Amino acid sequence: MKKIFIPIVVAGLTVAVVCSACARKFDTEDIKITSAVAQTVTESENLTEETATVVSETESEVPTDEVTTEKETSFADKIASVFEKTTQALTDAPTTAPVIYIEDYEYAYAGFQPAYANIDIDDWKMLLVNRDYILPDGYEVELAPSITDDPDSMKLDYRVAPHYNEMYLAALEDGIELTPVSGYRSVERQERNFKNKIQKYIDEGYSKTEATQMAATIILPPGTSEHNAGLAMDICSLYQSFENTDEFAWLSENAADYGFILRYPEDKQDITKIIYEPWHWRYVGIEAAKEMKASGQCFEEYLGVVNN
Ligand SMILES: [Zn+2]
Repeated sequence: MKKIFIPIVVAGLTVAVVCSACARKFDTEDIKITSAVAQTVTESENLTEETATVVSETESEVPTDEVTTEKETSFADKIASVFEKTTQALTDAPTTAPVIYIEDYEYAYAGFQPAYANIDIDDWKMLLVNRDYILPDGYEVELAPSITDDPDSMKLDYRVAPHYNEMYLAALEDGIELTPVSGYRSVERQERNFKNKIQKYIDEGYSKTEATQMAATIILPPGTSEHNAGLAMDICSLYQSFENTDEFAWLSENAADYGFILRYPEDKQDITKIIYEPWHWRYVGIEAAKEMKASGQCFEEYLGVVNN
C-alpha cells in the first residue's frame, strides 16, 4: 500500500462541523438532548423560537449548537472536564500508515492536535475524519447530486451519490421520502461557522481557549467533518426527535443494505465525541455497514481506533 502524505503545514486550515449546514427555517419544536456531551453544553433542553431564528440566520450546523443559555455558571468547568477526556492522543492510527501531525495547527492553543487523515487508504470508503483526523489542505471532492433526477439536490462524493439515490428511490417505494438536508459542505464555510461559534463564546466572556474548546465540543474542529469529505448526508431533519419518525425507522432497518451507517449513535458518544445525531448517515459500503449494524460497533470501533 502506498503511503503518501502531504506534509503541508496547515496554518490556515480550519473548520468543519458536526452536522448540516441547512439554511432552512427551523421549527420551534423542542429538542431533547439526551447525550452526555450535550448535557455538558447546556442545562436547557428547549430550543426557543428566538434561538431557532438565530440558528437559521447564522446557518449554524446543528440546532443544539445554539441551545446554550444563561445557565452557564459552571459551563466552562464542565466543558473543560469533557475536553480533558476527549482530547487524549490516539494510540493507534486508523491504518498502518504513520501518523503525521499538523505543525503549527491553528487551534493548538486549545489543546487540539489532529493528525492527517489517511486519504491514501486502499478502501476510500473507510476514510476516517473526526476530531483527531483532519483532511489535508486542498482535499478535493468530486461531487454529484444525491438525487440523480434532481441536479439541484444536495451533493455528495460522486462515488457515494448513486448509493444515496438508490436508497432514496427504494424508500420512496415504501412511502418514505429521505429528503437530503445537508450533504457536501466546503471547508471554507465550516471555517466561518466554527470561528463564529468561537467568537460567540468570547463575546459571552470566555477566554479564547475556553471558547474554542466549547465550540469544538459542539462543532467538530476544522477539516474534520465528513460533510467536508462528501461522505455523509443529514437526512430529513436536524432534530433528535427525528429518531421517532418513520423515516428514521426505515433508515435503521434498511440503510445498511445501501451502505450507510448511523454515524453518531446515542450510546457511542464517549467514543465519537459527537452528540447523538439520528439524522447523520455516513456511507461506508454495504459490507462494512452490515457488519457494523450486526456488531453494534460505531465506525471508530470498527476501525479499531478508539480514544481512551
Ligand atoms: Zn451531519
